[in-house]
Amino acid sequence: MTSYKLLLLLLFLSISGCATNPVTGEKQLILMSEDKEMAMGDACYPVYTQGSNGLFQDKDLQSYVNQIGKKLAQKSHRPQLNYEFNVVNTSVINAYALPGGKISITRGLLNLMENEDQLSGVLGHEIGHVAAKHVAAGYTRSVLTNFGLSLLDTVMSAKEIKYREYYNTAAGLAATLIVMKYSRDQEREADTLGMEYMVKAGYNPQGFVQSMQTLESLSQKEPSRLEVMFQSHPMSLERIENAKAQIQANFATLSLTAFQRDEFQKNTNYLKKVGLAYKQYDQAEELIKKEKFDEAVSLLKSALDIAPDEALIHTTLSAAYFAEKKYDAAMDEIESSLAIYPDLFMSRFLSGFIFHTINEFETSIAQLKTADNLVPDNVNVIFYLGCNYEKLKEIAVAAKYYKRLLQLTTKGEKALYAYQRLCEWGYIRGK
Ligand SMILES: [Zn+2]
Repeated sequence: MTSYKLLLLLLFLSISGCATNPVTGEKQLILMSEDKEMAMGDACYPVYTQGSNGLFQDKDLQSYVNQIGKKLAQKSHRPQLNYEFNVVNTSVINAYALPGGKISITRGLLNLMENEDQLSGVLGHEIGHVAAKHVAAGYTRSVLTNFGLSLLDTVMSAKEIKYREYYNTAAGLAATLIVMKYSRDQEREADTLGMEYMVKAGYNPQGFVQSMQTLESLSQKEPSRLEVMFQSHPMSLERIENAKAQIQANFATLSLTAFQRDEFQKNTNYLKKVGLAYKQYDQAEELIKKEKFDEAVSLLKSALDIAPDEALIHTTLSAAYFAEKKYDAAMDEIESSLAIYPDLFMSRFLSGFIFHTINEFETSIAQLKTADNLVPDNVNVIFYLGCNYEKLKEIAVAAKYYKRLLQLTTKGEKALYAYQRLCEWGYIRGK
């Protein structure tokens, strides 16, 4: 077991008994102490960020969102946590909180927002879940059952053509993202707390109502786009009505501030500008799933005309070229991507995979080791590290990776392959 997995396991298993809920003041069974909660958040945040296609590459926007989030968090019932906020680069419409105050909003959701008050409504709601310890409790429960399953999912049958491995790796990560299923009571509580923090931080709580109305009307038109978000945060018209009633009851005597648009528009300018490119990108992904690579390539090229600095689009174009066995073009695109965003797991993995395919095993190893540092214990990464060393006839090192693979999973073609090699080399006595 690697130290990373051991750390997670220890975090899950150390139960700290009763603690006082910071919001209600009541004693409740909390599975994690605050220190453990923060350690868990620190350990998981980078991996979850990678699972959501990494950070949206706009430093000004990242620090703008982080600053708004922290301003709200200072007004919360748990201001002492190490809060951190980021914008992850997925078109999926979602926002999520990890234990200890690590909070992400997706490019897809931020793209729907029109002012800072709406954004603060979304962030305030997530802070509400953290403050009321919904996250710590729920996360413990769900992670105990889910963690590791995504690793199994990434083991694919040998019949599948190779490009799928790249997509399944990404999908395997994304599948872990739905960590929470909040109850309706928890949603109501987070709504109330979020609006309270908004008002204390100088925002207009109507912004929260607006953001929910936006989601609600979009769910009427394109329900599939809200699936992920509504799985964790159950949505209802009742929530909107409740929020309105609370504003009336609690904040009617305040003179509510005007909506803050200027800074928001300035900071989301680039994100909105590349919005059209990502629309094409989303369509291209659908085409790739249907194996229509030619059409995907031309859409992705057109997306890059609008947004030439978007690493994720270069990576996906690389994958499409790779599927067409156009390795030189695939290599050019992955290099462009890594030059822009060196720390995107997906790109490092794909790069390692391309180099493996064209028999450049040493370069492949370097890429895959970087990938393994970004997201530890991914079955595909470990498997191809083993394969590369096997090709280089460094059997002892290859065996080390195949053993590590079998510690992660014993199912699927890759595990079987690793098992057979280890038997053959005398590391395991076969039946
Ligand atoms: Zn929620």
